[in-house]
Amino acid sequence: MDLGIENQVALVTGAGNGIGLACARALAREGCRVVVADIDAAAAGSAAQDITRARGQALALALDVSRPEPVRQAVAEVLAHWGGIDILVNNAGFSRDGPIGVMSDAQWADVMNVNLTGQFHCIREIAPHMAARGYGRIVNMASRAHFGDVNKANYAASKAGVIGLTRALAIELGQSGVTVNAVAPGIIQTERLSRLPQFADIRARSLAGMPIKRMGQPEEVADAVVFLASARSGFITGEVLHISGGRYG
Ligand code: ADP
Repeated sequence: MDLGIENQVALVTGAGNGIGLACARALAREGCRVVVADIDAAAAGSAAQDITRARGQALALALDVSRPEPVRQAVAEVLAHWGGIDILVNNAGFSRDGPIGVMSDAQWADVMNVNLTGQFHCIREIAPHMAARGYGRIVNMASRAHFGDVNKANYAASKAGVIGLTRALAIELGQSGVTVNAVAPGIIQTERLSRLPQFADIRARSLAGMPIKRMGQPEEVADAVVFLASARSGFITGEVLHISGGRYG
């Protein structure tokens, strides 16, 4: 299938590691010019190098999506450098789990500020440019955890918020040729997850509720993201695609 995105500009946040990195690589393989944005400058740099070595086009950007001014500047830089942004993959995120009774204000706010407000910051800067050109694809990273999980009130709320943001903007931007969709991954085998001391427990608990008895791979999320980011998905908007081995709740 020709995805129709050759030479398009794709900005992927949190692209230094895990799912975001897989998305950046996959978009580059389809011929996109990829902006690899991450708060971790070293990770963004090595991801961009990696893509360039594989004969893709990439630009590394150190960016904290939770801060509005740097996002504004970064978008202006990309527009000046590459002339437009066709695809935004809002992937940057993190978790700081804990029981609700002792969840600190910072623990709540930090997760909301990156996972939800960070997506708002990026869309606010980029969607008007897309709308002015009459074309755009926005893919937001939600999570199966929007259904809820123990010790994840902050994370689940942020990801449920991502779904609300996605559906509202699908309606708001539909007439201007910009689609807004979300993907909701379940348990995905990233390096970060594999390093967690409680990895075996998390894995066993997740697999118990999954019809497909294995963890997902970052590339499997990237495949879905690339399709939703492509010219071929133009009649799909406001959708939340679960990539969770059949586990929903
Ligand atoms: P996942 O399993 O979702 O892929 P990772 O932790 O492997 O999780 O990847 C998330 C990426 O998001 C990391 O590269 C991390 O540096 C990045 N990130 C976290 N917070 C921010 C932020 N505020 N701005 C930009 N990128 C961020």
